[in-house]
Amino acid sequence: MQSDMIIKLLNGNERHGILQQEFDPTSGHIDFFCKTEQRHGLIPLDDICFIKFLGTPNPPDPSLEESIVQNITTLTGDRFHVRLGKDCRDSSRGFFGQPAASDADFKSIYFTAKGCRNRSHDQPLGEILNKLGLVQEADVAEALQEQKHLRGRRVGEILADQAEIPQPYLEQAIDKITGKGHKKTQLRVGEILIEAGLVTRQQIDEALLKQSLGKRKQIGRILIERGLINENQLLVALAEKFRLDFVNLDEIAISQEALGKVPQSMIERMQILPIALHDTRLTVATATPTDHTISESLRFATNCQIELVCARSTQIGEKIAALFDRGEDTIKDLINELAEVVVEDGEVPELDTITESDSKVIKLVNKVLLDAHNKGVSDIHFEPGLGPQPLRIRYRKDGICYTVHQIAASYKKAVISRLKIVARLDIAERRRPQTGKIVLRKNDKRIEYRVEITPTIGGQEDAVLRVLSSVRGYSLDELGFSASNRQRFKKLLRKPYGIILCVGPTGSGKTTTLHSALAEINTPDTKIWTAEDPVEITQNGLRQVQVNAKIGFTFEEALRSFLRADPDVIMIGEMRDSSTAKTAIGASLTGHLVFSTLHTNNAPETVVRLIEMGIDPFNCSDALLCILAQRLARRLCKQCKEPYHPSREEYATYVEVYGAREFQEDDMPEFSEDLTLMRKVGCEACEGQGYSGRIAIQELLVNSPEIKRAIKYNSKVEEISEIAISQGMRNLRMDGIQKIFQGLTDLHQVNQVYI
Ligand SMILES: [Zn+2]
Repeated sequence: MQSDMIIKLLNGNERHGILQQEFDPTSGHIDFFCKTEQRHGLIPLDDICFIKFLGTPNPPDPSLEESIVQNITTLTGDRFHVRLGKDCRDSSRGFFGQPAASDADFKSIYFTAKGCRNRSHDQPLGEILNKLGLVQEADVAEALQEQKHLRGRRVGEILADQAEIPQPYLEQAIDKITGKGHKKTQLRVGEILIEAGLVTRQQIDEALLKQSLGKRKQIGRILIERGLINENQLLVALAEKFRLDFVNLDEIAISQEALGKVPQSMIERMQILPIALHDTRLTVATATPTDHTISESLRFATNCQIELVCARSTQIGEKIAALFDRGEDTIKDLINELAEVVVEDGEVPELDTITESDSKVIKLVNKVLLDAHNKGVSDIHFEPGLGPQPLRIRYRKDGICYTVHQIAASYKKAVISRLKIVARLDIAERRRPQTGKIVLRKNDKRIEYRVEITPTIGGQEDAVLRVLSSVRGYSLDELGFSASNRQRFKKLLRKPYGIILCVGPTGSGKTTTLHSALAEINTPDTKIWTAEDPVEITQNGLRQVQVNAKIGFTFEEALRSFLRADPDVIMIGEMRDSSTAKTAIGASLTGHLVFSTLHTNNAPETVVRLIEMGIDPFNCSDALLCILAQRLARRLCKQCKEPYHPSREEYATYVEVYGAREFQEDDMPEFSEDLTLMRKVGCEACEGQGYSGRIAIQELLVNSPEIKRAIKYNSKVEEISEIAISQGMRNLRMDGIQKIFQGLTDLHQVNQVYI
C-alpha cells in the first residue's frame, strides 16, 4: 500500500500513512492509518507541525491571481517556498499551501499555526517599500547597487541568479541534501549542486569568486543611511514582508494576563511588549521582527505559542516605561486625579477647598511648563471656561494652536493663582493685566517663560506663557535657503559695508534669519552690536541690547550709541520710522555692515517703501546690498509624508505660475509617469497634523548696476521686479514651488503664506 501523506510532528518525528477520512482542520485532528506503526488512529493537530499531501491537491489549487508566494519556516526547521490562497492569513489553526516549484515531492501541504515559525513574503524588501510608496524604484536600484558592492553574497544566492533557479528552491535543495549528514561547507554544497546537475562547475567558481568577505548589509539599512526612509517606514515594510500586523499601542488595551506571562527583566531587555493572551497563544509586540531569537526565547520562557506583531520602538519603549516606572506621575495622571473632585450638576466647589498651594496643582503646573518646553512649544495658553466649563490648556507650536489638556473647572482659579505666584505677580489683582516671568531650572538648564495675565469675562483670568528657551538659533543651512539664494546671500555677508534687509510680516522668521546671518560672521575679530525688542535669541560674541521704548531707549537711540562704540556690524531689530531708517542707511554708507528688518510684503516693494520713507534714492541705491523677503511655511512631517503622482493639470498650474521660461531655465522636473510630489499623512511624531517644523520661503533681490539705476530713477515696483527676475531672483511663489517639487512642503502651505 502506497502512502499518500507524510505528517511531521512537532517533536520532529515523521509518520507516513493513508488518510482514512477527509481531512477537516476544524475537527482538531486527523484520521489516519499509520504505515510506520501499522495501526489506525486520530492524531491531534496540536501535536502536528505540518502535513504533506502527496496525491490530489487538497484543497484545489488557488487561482494564480489570488495566490501569494511565501517562504515558510517551521518549528522543526523545515523550509518551504509555497503558494498560498489570499485568505490564508485568517486561519488561526493553520493553512493550506501548494508548492511554488512544479517538481516538489508533495502536491499540497497543511501548516498548523503552532508549527509555523515564520512566514515572509517572497517579494524583496525594496519592492515592498516601493509598493508602499515609501521609496522610488530608482532609489532602490541604487541602494541595491551599493549593497552589491558591499556584501559578500551567499554562494547559493549568487548561483540562483546565475543559473536562474529560484533561490528558496535552491536553498531548499541545499538544505535537503545537507540535512542528510553532509558536511555543510561552501565547496561541498557546490559539489552537491554540480552532481545534482543544477549548476556547472564554472558557475560555482564564478560564485565563489564573487563572494567577497564584506559583511552582509541589509537593503533597509542602506536606504535609511541614504536618508530615503526612516526606521518606522522600514518597520512598516518589514511587517508587510513578514506578514505581521502593525499595531498602534495607544489604541489597544494591554492585557495584564499577557504581561504576567513574561518576566519584567525579559520585557525590558528585549524591548518587547506582551499584549494579549488567548489560551496558549501569546501576542507580543516587537520593533525588530527580523530577530528570530525573540519568538524562540519567548516560547521557551512562557511555554506559549508566540504570535508577533510590529509596533514602533518608541511606543514600545514608552509603554514599558509607563508600566514599570511608577515613580513619577504623568500630566494625564495628575489631571485624572484632579477630575475626581468635580461636583455634578454644574456646581463648582468653593475656591478655599482647593488652593494654589495644593501639591497636585503645583505638580501639574510644573509638569505642563516642562512638557511644553520639551515639546518645543512656543506659547502655552491657560484658558478658563465660563462657569462649569473646564480650564483648557493649549500649546502653540510652529505657529499653530491646539488643545492639549482640559482641567476640571474647580481648579481654574487655583491653577491661575499658582502661575501668578511663581511669576511673582499680585494674586489679589484680578481686574488688570499683569506681566511677569517664570524661570525654571531643570538639570542645569534654565528655562524662561514670559507670563501675560489678562482678565476675561466672568471674573476669569487667562494666562499666556511665551517659552523663551524654545527660540533657538539656526544655522543658515537649516533655514531652507534654495542653493542659489544661499550662495548669493552668503557672499554678501562678507561685504565690509552696506545694508542687508530682511522683510516680511510679523512671525515670518526675519529675526531668526538675521541671527543666522550674524552667526556666519560672528568671529573674534568682528565687533557686532545688536538692538532688539525683545532679545529672544542670544549668541556668544554678540553685544546684545534690549531697547525699551517706555523709558525712551529706542532703536534709533541704540543705533546712535553703537556708532560711538566702534562697531563693525550693527543689527537693528526693526526700522520702525524714517529717522531710524535714515540713520541706518547713513551708518551703512560710512563703513559699517548693517542688518535690519522692515514690514513689507516683498523685496521689490521694499525699495519703493524706503524712498517713500524719505530715504534719498541715491543713498538707498548705493547702500543696499540685498533684500530678503521671507515667509514661513509648515514643513511636511519627514516621518509620515507620502509620495503621490500629480495630475497633468496640477503640474501645468505650477509651470504657469512659475513662468514657463524660468521653469525650464531652473531645470525643474519634466512631467512624466514617474514624477512624484509629497503630501501630508499624519502620524504620532507630528501629532496627526502631517506637518512638523517650518521652512522659509524666500525671495532674494540682490543689488546690481541695473537695479541701482532703477532705484535712482524712481522706477515702479513691477519694473524693479522684472529686472530682478531677469537677473536670477525667484519670487516667493516660485521659491515655494521649488520647495513643493523638493517634497518639503505642499501647495496648501505655499498658498497660505503667500499674501
Ligand atoms: Zn508625521
